[in-house]
Amino acid sequence: MYIFKKTSELQLYLKTRNSKPGFVPTMGALHQGHVSLILQSKKENEISVCSIFINPTQFNDPKDFEKYPITIAADIEKLIAAGTDILFLPSVTEMYPQGTEEKQNYNLGFIDTELEGKFRPGHFQGVCTIVHKLLDAVIPANLYMGEKDFQQCMVVKKLISLINSNTTLHTCATLREPNGLAMSSRNERLSKENRQLASEIFESMKHIKSMMHAHSFHELQTEAINALHNKQIEPEYLLLCEADTLRELNDFDANCKMVLLIAAKIGDVRLIDNLRLN
Ligand code: AMP
Repeated sequence: MYIFKKTSELQLYLKTRNSKPGFVPTMGALHQGHVSLILQSKKENEISVCSIFINPTQFNDPKDFEKYPITIAADIEKLIAAGTDILFLPSVTEMYPQGTEEKQNYNLGFIDTELEGKFRPGHFQGVCTIVHKLLDAVIPANLYMGEKDFQQCMVVKKLISLINSNTTLHTCATLREPNGLAMSSRNERLSKENRQLASEIFESMKHIKSMMHAHSFHELQTEAINALHNKQIEPEYLLLCEADTLRELNDFDANCKMVLLIAAKIGDVRLIDNLRLN
């Protein structure tokens, strides 16, 4: 596996290969969820590039940024084992030569300020800033992202159309731990007990799905929020949305594709997950 820290070196090498790569952007602390994206890319592309860059401009909470796990040596081992061709590992100055205050404003519509956008103001502008820069650096034919970050996938789809990029976005299924908890780099920050407890987040959505034909969403939402709260899990939101638009729904509607989306805190660790209902 080649490791490039400079965009110019990455691009020089890609030119010699004469093939547009598949690309998996990450923030490191890699787990099987990330690896599944790389394997998907490897199936569909001659060359696969993974990037590891903890993007400071998408953290609205500086403590979350400071505590973000860094496990580069283990990450490199996992990438080699997965057969990754290239790791792009830029520094903050490489990606933000003018400093991290530089900002573009991407017109994302209401998805920018709903759900994650509401609780993490500016988050998606930061995501767009870095994904735009990474797409310019890697110029991939295909981009692989996880449905675990459901809203992020919609934001990046919008970004691709805003910047007239030729890259195709592929949204890949969420990998889960045996107890159902969605794999996440942030799980590393949970104690053993809380990692087990965190499975309740997915369980609560599965429960709503199993009861959706017998109750209103409002009833099930209230019950789930109370049950989580009683287990020391603090939901920030648990909402029902139309899956294609992320428009919020007041109640189940079999005429559209529906998705449940949740963000919840266990101690100071904030986790997100989602579940399609139909
Ligand atoms: P992150 O390193 O958290 O920025 O994630 C990098 C990419 O991996 C994003 O496209 C995520 O959606 C994806 N990802 C994270 N967790 C999972 C998971 N459990 N299953 C599949 N993809 C994931």
